[in-house]
Amino acid sequence: MSDFDYDLFVVGGGSGGVRAARIAAGHGAKVAIAEEYRLGGTCVIRGCVPKKLLVYASRFRDDFEDAAGFGWSVSTPSFDWPTLIANKDAEITRLEGLYRSGLERAGVTILQARAELADAHTLTVQPGNRRITAKIILVATGGRPTLLEVPGAGHAITSNEAFHMESLPKSILIAGGGYIAVEFASIFNGLGVDTTLIYRAPKILRGFDEELRDHLSEELQKRGIDVLCDAEIASIDKGWLHYNVALKDGRTIETAKAMFATGRQPNTKGIGLEAAGVKLGDNGEILVDGQSRSSVESIYAVGDVTDRVNLTPVAIREGHAFADTVFGNKPVTVDHELVPTAVFSTPEIGTVGLHDLGGVRAQDMAADHAAALAVHQQLHEHALVASRQRVLERLEARLVDVELGIALACLSLVQADGADLGRREYRRRHQLVVHRDRLVAEHRVGEGMTLADGDRVRFTRSVTSPTA
Ligand SMILES: Cc1cc2nc3c(=O)[nH]c(=O)nc-3n(C[C@H](O)[C@H](O)[C@H](O)COP(=O)(O)OP(=O)(O)OC[C@H]3O[C@@H](n4cnc5c(N)ncnc54)[C@H](O)[C@@H]3O)c2cc1C
Repeated sequence: MSDFDYDLFVVGGGSGGVRAARIAAGHGAKVAIAEEYRLGGTCVIRGCVPKKLLVYASRFRDDFEDAAGFGWSVSTPSFDWPTLIANKDAEITRLEGLYRSGLERAGVTILQARAELADAHTLTVQPGNRRITAKIILVATGGRPTLLEVPGAGHAITSNEAFHMESLPKSILIAGGGYIAVEFASIFNGLGVDTTLIYRAPKILRGFDEELRDHLSEELQKRGIDVLCDAEIASIDKGWLHYNVALKDGRTIETAKAMFATGRQPNTKGIGLEAAGVKLGDNGEILVDGQSRSSVESIYAVGDVTDRVNLTPVAIREGHAFADTVFGNKPVTVDHELVPTAVFSTPEIGTVGLHDLGGVRAQDMAADHAAALAVHQQLHEHALVASRQRVLERLEARLVDVELGIALACLSLVQADGADLGRREYRRRHQLVVHRDRLVAEHRVGEGMTLADGDRVRFTRSVTSPTA
């Protein structure tokens, strides 16, 4: 019999923790999971899922307008924020229930509790100050929003509060240029809120392909979002009716609501990691090896708390791989390269693979038998209405195995039409096969496109199943 209360104790019931607990229990481990707030974690409770419901809501305005071009007459539509929020909350409660029943069916013990580490095998659980021991501890505590350190910062909300506002403000100023900032700007703009996006760097979406950044920035402004780059907040004052947001360049902007979407940081403070001897990185993240093991042999970490690729499917993959490795006798190393990313702005963008980061990677690619292709086109669905958006598709391929002459197809695909793809989401996959330096694969419908270097590429395009 084991000397420990559990084989595995998981701290945090979000995407990574829940998957790890369920799979480990399936491998026969005795598992407990502690969640201090709500099962499902950031993604389900105050991240991807509620955000996408708001994104869908924000796109109906376009649909009502477009419908006229197709012969429909629609009486003046009106929108009610409290109805949307109540329905969103009901859906989240339903999903939370599914997470709970999945864990229960797998035989996992669920603790509605905050857990802190006391040493390499011991945890303290609150309320009740219970001490629990486990052979293996998995830390999956996720991350939290980073706040700007400026006077009056307390007046601003973050994405956490944005999902629970009692009413829709007339105007909003969102600080940040990452995907969460851009997505919320699109949501509020679509719902008729006068929206300003303010970002300290010259261009939004740092780290994304240059062409995508320019394209999206242009499209957001065309939709009426005021995108202010190279601008920083100095302070926020509460006036009678508005907040006055002072910028460092001397300008002041009046807004009904201010929101920070200025990044996230790993949730590692105050959970006893120091006591257990776990090493942290510069951003406070838990440092782990390829199999998610920390500097302490019995302690592992997955998901946002490790600050690798902070996305739900990655946290789930890491949690699954951890459980298979440690309890399923199937060592798995998660590959963090080529993770597809979608930004649910309007228009939305999706990307995977090599990016043109200001020309630097583009040059590497050229040396690496790479090919890139960009196509701008208009969607058919907009043919009968004054078109607002164009689709930008950008394909890039890199030869990864010269010996075999086979290339891994890397694709950056911009699906820029929110009105259509918002509800009929699908991923298109283009496959490029390279033989020696030449791209020779076939496009399913036989299209050919000329590459910059003169080579012709034909690629396979297939529609995969709808994304969740
Ligand atoms: C607004 C927003 C939108 C997003 N949109 C997307 C998207 O579209 N696509 C995508 O892939 N990703 C998206 N993300 C990111 C995604 O939500 C995270 O990458 C994912 O949730 C990480 O999972 P995790 O298991 O690491 O942590 P989390 O899901 O954050 O779960 C951690 C859990 O641990 C709990 N916890 C923390 N400390 C303790 C403790 N001491 N004891 C007990 N419990 C504790 C927390 O309450 C939380 O429930 C979004 C995030 C935000 C904020």
